[in-house]
Amino acid sequence: MSSAILILSGPSGAGKSTIINAVASRIGEFYFSISSTSREPREGEKNAREYHFVSKKEFEEGIEAGEFLEYAVVHGNYYGTSLKPVKDALNKGKLVIFDIDVQGFHLAKERMGDLITSAFILPPSLSALEKRLYSRSTDSSDAMEQRIKNAKREILEIGAYDFVIVNDDIEKTADQFVSVANAARLKLDSKARDIFVKEWLNS
Ligand code: ADP
Ligand code: 5GP
Repeated sequence: MSSAILILSGPSGAGKSTIINAVASRIGEFYFSISSTSREPREGEKNAREYHFVSKKEFEEGIEAGEFLEYAVVHGNYYGTSLKPVKDALNKGKLVIFDIDVQGFHLAKERMGDLITSAFILPPSLSALEKRLYSRSTDSSDAMEQRIKNAKREILEIGAYDFVIVNDDIEKTADQFVSVANAARLKLDSKARDIFVKEWLNS
């Protein structure tokens, strides 16, 4: 059993949720980490499906209690990954997938670096991103502008990621994502590597 973490980052509207849904039956057993956020649910979003929607106060209590593997303020709201379900899934040998921003990626790397494979996903152009955000039409125009501004900042950090995936054609992108998920599973963290070497030498 090989537990591993795959971090996906990229601008809101890049197509991360679309791609994860498209490959769900092709990447073996995985756990998608449902983040907590203090932002309001969008139309059609359901608590505990897209996010755990909590108040700012509840989120801050979670921070105080040390519940988060990482958290960050994105577009003026808190977003964070709870540690416990991630640990449980890793203990079961699952691939754990995070959809988190660049700040969260850096924090997770500091804590669980050798388990992590990372990919940055983006649309083929800035104008395609604008079009997708507008066609999704789930955000106010202020929120969309904030997301585009954030995207221009985040793209400067793609060098920190193992892979860059350009989401132009959904099927091609899904195939690339499957390759990245397979690569993530092949990566051995230091503990698994030590065990493997010991067992191999004794075999
Ligand atoms: P994210 O999870 O990264 O915020 P979504 O998966 O919600 O992004 O996708 C944003 C919008 O772009 C949605 O309306 C989705 O249907 C659309 N979309 C996703 N991938 C593509 C693609 N390859 N070509 C065109 N539209 C896409
Ligand atoms: P949205 O509001 O569009 O759902 O998400 C906004 C941004 O927050 C996206 O870039 C997404 O990757 C990021 N995000 C979602 N969950 C988390 C999380 O748990 N931690 C961090 N650091 N970022 C997150």
